[in-house]
Amino acid sequence: MTESDDIAEIRRAVQALCTEFPGDYWREKDRERAYPGEFVDALTKAGFLAALIPEEFGGSGLKLDAAAVIMEEIQASGCNGASAHAQMYIMNTLLRYGSAEQKAQYLPGIANGELRLQAFGVSEPTSGTDTLSLRTVAVRDGDSYVVNGQKIWTSRAEHSDLMLLLARTTPREQVAKKTEGLSIFLVDMRAAVGNGLTIKPIRTMMNHSTTEVFFDDLRIPASSLIGEEGKGFRYILSGMNAERILIAAECVGDAKWFIQKAADYARERSVFARPIGQNQGVQFPIARCYAQMRAAELMVHHAAAVYDAGGNPGEEANMAKLLASEASWAAADMCVQTHGGFGFAEEYDVERKFREARLYTVAPISTNLILSYLAEHVLGLPRSY
Ligand SMILES: Cc1cc2nc3c(=O)[nH]c(=O)nc-3n(C[C@H](O)[C@H](O)[C@H](O)COP(=O)(O)OP(=O)(O)OC[C@H]3O[C@@H](n4cnc5c(N)ncnc54)[C@H](O)[C@@H]3O)c2cc1C
Repeated sequence: MTESDDIAEIRRAVQALCTEFPGDYWREKDRERAYPGEFVDALTKAGFLAALIPEEFGGSGLKLDAAAVIMEEIQASGCNGASAHAQMYIMNTLLRYGSAEQKAQYLPGIANGELRLQAFGVSEPTSGTDTLSLRTVAVRDGDSYVVNGQKIWTSRAEHSDLMLLLARTTPREQVAKKTEGLSIFLVDMRAAVGNGLTIKPIRTMMNHSTTEVFFDDLRIPASSLIGEEGKGFRYILSGMNAERILIAAECVGDAKWFIQKAADYARERSVFARPIGQNQGVQFPIARCYAQMRAAELMVHHAAAVYDAGGNPGEEANMAKLLASEASWAAADMCVQTHGGFGFAEEYDVERKFREARLYTVAPISTNLILSYLAEHVLGLPRSY
């Protein structure tokens, strides 16, 4: 696969920025469970987080394939894009379905870093993967909507100014199809926190700034609605394809980091008077992970190409996410094994990346649900749930 000069240049520029944020920066943030604000600011200043924003609003107007390369290189450099990736994938919903007024109001501020769009409120504690059973409601009242309910795993909510929120606007029993009656809102959290919006951090096995969010009669302007009322699920599905492709690109980057780290260590570490990498028992798992990563990488670029051409990449985005998350997790496990005891030592960064990489066979969609999508929608097997 040969890349265009533009894409190669993006890779070099992201790599250069990431060298300013070496392992000890991430180790300290990880230890303190602190948000890597300096890193996110640097990405914003360099324009990377505005990659998808059209030039007329201050962004660079790039396509999803370029955004995927940015996220991949962040991970491949040992950094953690989870602190900022939502801005890339939420952006697509705003770009595709937001009104001209909403774009003019928010995009320039997001592009220049005055505003962060980093929170995505979909998951709820009781509905789990069954998104259509979500219970958060937004009820129209004059020029406002009044929001009540709870979200969980709303990552970066404490570090974001805006949240893309999915809520039910028509009760489920009053709609013909359960996919109807859900709506998307762009919530300005600066005005909301303390006035009906409460955020509670959740401590997790890796540094992810994730939270629970409670809505208690939160009043938001009716102009926060994106697109048409009741069509939110359709909008979010399109955004979820972008999310899966971008996360898959991050997994490819992680896999590249683990493979490089393992190969370097296997060349240098000498046991029984020869490099451990001379043993096929050590070489083969690294080589296998490389092949697995490359296959996933091809699917990521294919899915992004279908998305960029305006198609519906449901199948490709899901397969990219499945293959890439499994490739990165296999590479993480291999990298620990290759390092032996040092794989567990903080200073090698392997154990930190191992913990971070574990997330992606679960979120933003778990492997089982992808397999079920492929079985039902691609292979025509009966629906299982
Ligand atoms: C660190 C972190 C950050 C997150 N960030 C966000 C965020 O910013 N915004 C957001 O909205 N969400 C976020 N999420 C939520 C994430 O998308 C969900 O955790 C994920 O989709 C899985 O849903 P669940 O946890 O409710 O699992 P459940 O739906 O409870 O599923 C549990 C297990 O059962 C399996 N399962 C369930 N139903 C079936 C079935 N019918 N057939 C086979 N297997 C099944 C699943 O595959 C899974 O393995 C985050 C999660 C984590 C852990």
